[in-house]
Amino acid sequence: MNSINTNIEKSDTLHDTLDGLYRRYQNGYLSMDPLELARQYEDSKDQEIAAFISAGLAIGRYDLIRRAVQMVLDCMKPSPYRFVQMFDPSRDGAAFRDFRYRFYQGRDIQLLIWWIAQMIRRAGSIKQFFLNGYSASDSNIGFSLSRFVRSILDLTTAPFYSEIPPRGVGIRHFLADPLDGSGCKRLNLFLRWMVRKDALDLGLWPEVSTSQLVIPLDTHIIRFGRYLGLTGRVSPGWNMALEITETLRRFDASDPVKYDFAICTLGKLTDCSNPPDRIKCRTCPIFRCCRNAV
Ligand code: SF4
Repeated sequence: MNSINTNIEKSDTLHDTLDGLYRRYQNGYLSMDPLELARQYEDSKDQEIAAFISAGLAIGRYDLIRRAVQMVLDCMKPSPYRFVQMFDPSRDGAAFRDFRYRFYQGRDIQLLIWWIAQMIRRAGSIKQFFLNGYSASDSNIGFSLSRFVRSILDLTTAPFYSEIPPRGVGIRHFLADPLDGSGCKRLNLFLRWMVRKDALDLGLWPEVSTSQLVIPLDTHIIRFGRYLGLTGRVSPGWNMALEITETLRRFDASDPVKYDFAICTLGKLTDCSNPPDRIKCRTCPIFRCCRNAV
């Protein structure tokens, strides 16, 4: 699962541009990210669970994600951690029965919460459940993430599903496996929030190295990854995520994923037309490095 792109040259201009984006979008843009919903809690146990649910539902427009996540968290008031600790599938599952959002039906959220409850009962926290399969010596988080996903899929699905939903169905959109080639966007996003620590990310899992993280591959990262020459790949997936991460590692080997939020925020804010517009390009923060600029 090692990546590698031998064609992308290290560039001081690109380094300056990426560091400039990181500084520019460090403060004041959290309201555009589902991490905001985990940060509404003070207790790290609540933050971890709220972040896991937020990452799982991070699909589509942010205002819709926010509404969907808040709907789930409202049923878990005042403490998501205490809610899952006491969760009884037959008694408490009904609160989520009518939930609908994108790929998810009510029973997908019921199952997600039931799986979180089982992780907490077995290991005490999602972190410890992850650490049980974590390898600190791997160059990237792929194998550890795969073990994490497989361990979750070994948990009981009843009474919400008689068996694990097939790949690409319902909650399996969240619990994808890197060994199947998936980019695992939402799981990598969750890991970024848990492992990194700065003005945005929570840093609740210091046992995991930031150098092992892999970029959450969303539409902005794919598009700007190509514009900035971070990847030469055509097909999105785990190998593209690794290649982009590997390129970013040349600019910060200990924390390559620190650029993720900045590039995504650039994607949300930049009015980049197709075909590109000369006037817009001249005022774009990545103009000097963009391979699509005119
Ligand atoms: S430089 Fe131009 S083409 Fe490149 S991202 Fe900015 S607006 Fe789009």
